Amino acid sequence: MWSTAREIAAGDTVIVWLASPFPTSSILHQTRDFIQPLVVTPGKDFNSKYGNYRHSDFIGMPFGSKVGSRSGKGFIHLLRPTPELWTMALPHRTQILYIADISFIISYLDIRRGSRVIEAGTGSGSFSHSVARSIGPTGHLWSYEFHEARAQKARDEFTQHKMSDFVTLTHQNVCKDGFNLTDAADSVFLDLPAPWDAVEHAKQALRKDRTTRISCFSPCMEQVLRTVSALNDAGFIDITMYETLIRPHDVAQVPVLQPISDMEEKLKKSEEIREIKRLRQIAAKQKTDESAHGEKRKRDDGDDEQEAEAVDGEDVGSGKKLKTEDDDEMADSTPSRDVVNGSSSSRGPAVAFAPPLQKISVSKAIVEVRGHTSYLTFATLLPPMPGASPPASSEDVAPLD
Ligand code: SAM
Repeated sequence: MWSTAREIAAGDTVIVWLASPFPTSSILHQTRDFIQPLVVTPGKDFNSKYGNYRHSDFIGMPFGSKVGSRSGKGFIHLLRPTPELWTMALPHRTQILYIADISFIISYLDIRRGSRVIEAGTGSGSFSHSVARSIGPTGHLWSYEFHEARAQKARDEFTQHKMSDFVTLTHQNVCKDGFNLTDAADSVFLDLPAPWDAVEHAKQALRKDRTTRISCFSPCMEQVLRTVSALNDAGFIDITMYETLIRPHDVAQVPVLQPISDMEEKLKKSEEIREIKRLRQIAAKQKTDESAHGEKRKRDDGDDEQEAEAVDGEDVGSGKKLKTEDDDEMADSTPSRDVVNGSSSSRGPAVAFAPPLQKISVSKAIVEVRGHTSYLTFATLLPPMPGASPPASSEDVAPLD
C-alpha cells in the first residue's frame, strides 16, 4: 500500500493535519476541516489558513514532521497515510463507512492476512482501504461499482496507493450481472441499496469447501427484513443483525495513592480495624453501664483487665489512647493532599505512597449517544453436505402464530 519509507518522496500521498495532533473529541467530529490528503508534487504549493508551503520542501522530511509555513506563521503536520486517516480525509463521492463499522465488519467476517474478499459497491473506497491492509498482498479484494465515474476514480486511487496488485475493481451492476466468480471468496460485503438482489450471486461467488460469511449494511429496517428473507432463501444460517452506536468515554488518569497490589491487603486490614472499633464500642458501653449503677467492680484477675484494655485501645485508668499497629495502617492509607500534589506535608515527607505515584486510567461514559449509521446483517454459509437436499424457501415455511 502506501510508502513504508521513513522519509517523504515525490509522488507520495501524505495526510496533512492542520490542527493539534491531539484533537479534542469535538474537533474529531469535524475532521475534514482539519485533515487533507495530498500527493507530493514538486512545483506545486499547498495554501491554507495555516500558511503557505512548497511541496518540494516536504521531500526528505520524515513522515510525522511538523512543518512551519514559509511566512513563519502557522504550521502543519505531514502524516503517513493509514486506512483510518484515509477514511477521515478522503474525498467523498458517496456516503462512506467509518472505522467503528469497518472494524466490526472486518472482525466479524474474519477477514485477515491472505483472505479473499468481495465488496459492492466500492463507493468512495473507505472500506476498501481497511480491507486491503487486513488481507495484504497475499489476499485479494474484488470490488464492484456500477457508477462509471466513481469506479474510475477509485481505480486511480487504488493504483496511486499501490493496491492494484491485489485489489481488482470492476465496473458492473452486481444485482443484475453478479460477480463473475464461482467458489472464490471467503467473505462478501454488500453496501448497496438492494443487497437482497445480490444474495444469490454472492452465494455463487463464495467458496464451498469451507464456512464462509456475508455482511450487508442497510440504513433501514425494511431493507434488513428483505435481506434476511433472501439470506434464508439462499440457505444462509446464523443470521444476526447488529447496530453500531458510538458512546464516547471521558478518560482521565488519576494517581493511585498506593500500589494496586497492596489494595487487597489494605482492605482486609480495614475490615480488622472495623472489628476492633466494634469491640471498643461494646467495651465503652459496658463501662458506661457499670458507672451508671455506681458499682465500681473490682476485678479479680488483673491480666483479664489488661487484655480488655488492649482490645479497647484505651488505657482505662489514664484515659490515654493506646496506639496499635492497625492505627499505623490507617494513617498510612489516609490520603494527603500534599501527597497527591507530589510535595511533602507539614508533618514531613509522605514516604508511605510516594514516590513514584502510580496512575490508573478511569473513564466515564457520556450518556448522549451520537446517531445511528446503519444496521449490519451477518450470516454464515456452510459447505454443502454430500447428498443433502436444497434448503426450503422462506415462502414454504409456515408463519408463526
Ligand atoms: N462502502 C463504501 C465506502 O465505504 O466508501 C460506500 C458505498 S456507497 C454507500 C454505495 C455504492 O454502491 C455507490 O457508489 C453506488 O454507486 C454503488 N452501487 C449501488 N448499486 C450497485 C449495484 N447494483 N452494483 C454495483 N454498485 C452499486
